Amino acid sequence: MTVRKKTEKGAKESRQAEEKGRPESLKPTEVRINIRCRHCFIVDGYTRQEDRCRHCGARLFLIDEV
Ligand SMILES: [Zn+2]
Repeated sequence: MTVRKKTEKGAKESRQAEEKGRPESLKPTEVRINIRCRHCFIVDGYTRQEDRCRHCGARLFLIDEV
């Protein structure tokens, strides 16, 4: 009897730990657009907040999406 009680308690605890350790799947995903730089022609993924080329610093244009 004592053994069974212990098992029940342990199962409950592990379930709680599982909920706590759940990976954050609800994290807002950043939308990245592949844009080709007009200056160095390197294609890279950029968020809408980024408007400068990561490689040469030139201005990026959303219409250059590839
Ligand atoms: Zn560039």
